[in-house]
Formats: sequence, structure tokens, C-alpha cells
Amino acid sequence: MITFSDLGLKPEILEAIQEMGFENPTPVQEKTIPFLLSTNKDLVALAQTGTGKTAAFGLPILNDIDLKSKKVQALVLSPTRELAMQIAKDFTAYSKKTKGFKAISIYGGADAGAQIRELERGGQVVVGTPGRVLDLLKRKKLKLSDVQTLVLDEADEMLTMGFKDDLNDILDKTPSSKRTLLFSATMPKEIISIAKKYMSDHEEISVGAKNKGAENVNHIYYMVNAKDRYSALKRIADINPDIYGIVFCRTRRETKEVAEKLMNDGYNADALHGDLSQAQRDYVMTRFRNKNLQILVATDVAARGLDVNNLSHIINYNLPDELESYIHRSGRTGRAGKKGTSIIIVHSRELRKIKSLEKKVGKTIHKHDIPGGKEICEKQLYKLVDKVNNIQVEDEQIEEYLPKIYEKLENLSREDLIKHFVSVEFNSFLEYYKNAKDLNIGGGDREDKKSRKDRNSGVEFTRFYINVGTKNGINAATLIGLINDKTRNPRATIGRIDVMKGFSFFEYEAKLEDEVLKGFENAEEKGLKLLVEITKSKPIEKDDRGSRFGGNHSNSNKGRKRSDSRSSSDRSQKRRRRR
Ligand code: AMP
Repeated sequence: MITFSDLGLKPEILEAIQEMGFENPTPVQEKTIPFLLSTNKDLVALAQTGTGKTAAFGLPILNDIDLKSKKVQALVLSPTRELAMQIAKDFTAYSKKTKGFKAISIYGGADAGAQIRELERGGQVVVGTPGRVLDLLKRKKLKLSDVQTLVLDEADEMLTMGFKDDLNDILDKTPSSKRTLLFSATMPKEIISIAKKYMSDHEEISVGAKNKGAENVNHIYYMVNAKDRYSALKRIADINPDIYGIVFCRTRRETKEVAEKLMNDGYNADALHGDLSQAQRDYVMTRFRNKNLQILVATDVAARGLDVNNLSHIINYNLPDELESYIHRSGRTGRAGKKGTSIIIVHSRELRKIKSLEKKVGKTIHKHDIPGGKEICEKQLYKLVDKVNNIQVEDEQIEEYLPKIYEKLENLSREDLIKHFVSVEFNSFLEYYKNAKDLNIGGGDREDKKSRKDRNSGVEFTRFYINVGTKNGINAATLIGLINDKTRNPRATIGRIDVMKGFSFFEYEAKLEDEVLKGFENAEEKGLKLLVEITKSKPIEKDDRGSRFGGNHSNSNKGRKRSDSRSSSDRSQKRRRRR
């Protein structure tokens, strides 16, 4: 195994990082540190936060600093003020045993005067956000003529935050002799073009595959009706009583609403979003960092500056518009060798997004069932019992109260006493979950399930909706032809088919349902974009076409008459392929 002393770092740096508890280099450090110490080439490194990337560039930069000069020799650009402060703090920690070294952080939203005074006193490394760096450059308070290394940290984040022009301006103002190190968790096209434009002969280092999620993250999804999203979130929190995580929402409004509801429902939660002042943001973040807050509800933008290890869960209350952001969200858990879980709450029409995400993450995203009331109550109850069991008893403090307490409880047996104590904390939970319904789509009684087991053949079918019907020239035979065309699996069984005027339903072997979703992805028929999705609507009975039909597609069913004679409902138990 490679050790830090094998990498060629100075003894005073080795001593400092040893005190920080760094025993062995992480993979990105193993690859980056010897490269940076032995060559002067540029570097593009694909690495997520949490992989140890700060030390990967920080340690070799510190190693090569000319400590006799107080001029800026390295500039690190970071997307947020919090990250800039963190990186400067890390440099200070690495240099604990190095005399005469100083790292300065400069960022917006704070007094520029104090930062200018720091710069005037001198420091070899400046870590800053692009806006403030450019501002102080223009005011000639920051001088970059001696810069030998420029680091673009979380380059993809800087671009999504709209710093592209600032970055270009800053890069133009640095000496052409410098080396550039670009760190990014993902590799969108813009990063590649920056690398091409500003880096001549660069090396590419990657830990893990490109644009892939962190290794230690387990990805799961729950499928619920959109209206049950919040109830599902509560159950996820309840089944994980020790949760320490971030709930990601899409908008500020949703963030506020979800956080307020959680707080009102007694959860240890708070919101982080752009409508808060910097002081309010700092307050929430500090509480969260110190684990005084268990659940942080946040927008992607607001959570960017938050650098917290040991998160147990990331919950996607709603998926981000840009699926790339999912990598960043989920990469906030499973850091520094720890395991983490990234949860996605979706409704049935979002299933295709899960498939696209699986490709991005490079892992299967497993479907789990939202736990039922009984399961949650059991988990909470045992957690409470463990807490009672493990609590540190302050004998001396409670001694004087005990006689009176014994007297008050003397009519209760040991069994009754246990029941009473447990009930104090637990009654509200039991009450809440007493008649809790099944939130899973396809949950509940069999009538309500998305799949149907054929009585004769025993085949389990999933029922699909498709947006073409008789008015598009579709009948049962042409629909089978279409399904055959898209799924290309002659062995799969097709079940019932109901063709209506503007749309149809068909059943397909449940265990092969992905074939249908994948096969019809981006499919067209005579210029019409085909939409196929899993439906919970029930098969149409002969005398019941007007009332039961529709399910999730009731809008498209408006005005249809009970005697729609063109619908062809085939109740044969199963169909073999005609191919
Ligand atoms: P980063 O990816 O730079 O945000 O680092 C993530 C966390 O891992 C930070 O808390 C670092 O202090 C820690 N860390 C970095 N390198 C090592 C190492 N070699 N051994 C142990 N912890 C490390």
C-alpha cells in the first residue's frame, strides 16, 4: 500500500497531515500528488467532493511554495464562499508545521476592506470566488503576476452558477507560464472546451468513471402518487430515526413548504434557500454541521456551499431538472469511505427518468416499498427502548427525587410500568399510523395493483397506457404488431388489450415491463410521438366501459360514450406473439 511518505512530500507536511488523521492517501491523492510534484503539466481531474481532492492539489501546492516570498503563488477558484473558506482552512491545517506560510480567502457577501488588508499583509495562496477575485483584480488589490498554479475547483459547479465569463476574464489575467489544474465532479462539454482553450498539454486523471456517482452510495427509489410525496417523506424519516440528511427540492417555495410542514409535524428540520440572508444561511448551516439539525431541506443552489461529511441520506423530494445535478446531490453522501443512501421519490410517469439516471450513475437504482405503519412503529419503538436502555443515568442528580417517584408509581407492576413509559413517547406515533394506508403505487388491495395475475396461466401482467387508438388506425392486431416492433422479444406474453378511440391499454408480462418502457422511449408512429406509461386503470368489463375506464387518464376520456362500439376489448387470457 502506498503511504504519504512515498509520495515525495516534505517532512513538515507529513507531520501535519498525520496529526489531521490522514493515514493513507485516497485514490485521487495517490494519482495526483506524485504527478504534480514531478511534472509541470496541466491537469484535468475528475473527482467528486469527498474524495480528498482538496489535499490532492493542496499538498503539492504547499510543498512547492517559495516561503521566502509573500507574493501570491497559487490562486484557487471555488464556486461558493463556504467552499473557499473551507479550502483556505485546509491549507492552514496542512501548513501547521510550515513556518511563514499564509492562505487567504476572498469571497462576496463580506466586507472587501478586511480582505484587502489581508492581501496587503501578503499570502502565498489565495482561495476565492470568481466574482470577488475579479473585483479585487480590477481594483488592483489582487496581483497575480507571480502565480504559478491556478486551480479551478468544482469547475462544473462554477459554470452552472454562471461564472463562465468571470472565469475567462480571470484566466486571461494570469501569467501564461502558470500551470492550470481543473477539478470537476462531472465533465460537461463546457468544461472540455475550457480545458481545450486554456490548457495546452494536459493530463487527465479520473477516479471512478466519468460523470459517475460515488462508489459508496446506495441509490433507491420509492414510487408514490404525487399527492403522497410529503407523507412518503415523513415515513422515510420515521423509518430512519437517526437520519442526518438533506432533502432536495426544486424551488424555494417547495423548500419552504416542506421544511415548514416537517417542523410543524415535530421533525428536527429547517430550510436553506436563496431567500434567506447570509446571516440566516450561516446560522442554519452551522446548526446542521454541528448536527443540531437532523434534516436540512434545501434547493440545489443553496446547498452548494455546504460541505458536510457523514450524511446518512440524500432525499430527492423532486428530481432536478438537469439530471446531472443528481450526481452532485447524491455525491454529498457516501463520502470519505462512509456508506450513504440516495433516495428518490417519484411518481409513475417519472420512471423513465430513473432509467436515464441509472445510465448516468452507472448503477442500478433499486425500487423499495414505502414502509407501512406497523413497520415504522416497530422501528421507532425499539429505538426508544434502546435509548432508555443506553441512557447514562445521573444517579446523584436524581437520588433526592426518587422516594417521591417510587411512591407515585407504587401501584404499577413492572410490566405496567414499562407500558406506561413507552406510551408516553409513543402514543402519538401509534395514533398517526393506526390506519395508515399503503402509499406505494400498486400497493393496497389487489384491485388497486398495477399488475394483474392471470387466473389460468399464472402470468403476472403490467398494464400500459398508449396514446393511440382507433382514430389512429389502431386495432388489437396492429397494436400487437407495434408492441412486437418496439420490444423485439418473441417470447414475452401480451395479455388483455383494450383499444379506445384516442388511446389504448395493453398488458405485458410484469417481469419484462422495462422492455416496453425502453422500447417505446422516443418512439414515433406516423409522425406522432408515442407515449407509453404504466397505468393503474382497471381492465374494462363488458358492461362497464363508461364508468371504470380511465384511471390515470381520465382527461383524455372526456365525452366518450358508453356505447363506444369501436373499442375492442379482448378478454382472452393471454396472447401469444404472432411472429
Ligand atoms: P475533500 O474531497 O477535499 O472535500 O475531502 C473530504 C474529507 O476527507 C475531508 O474532511 C478531508 O479532511 C478528508 N480527507 C482527505 N484526505 C484524506 C486522507 N488521505 N485520509 C483521511 N481523510 C482524508
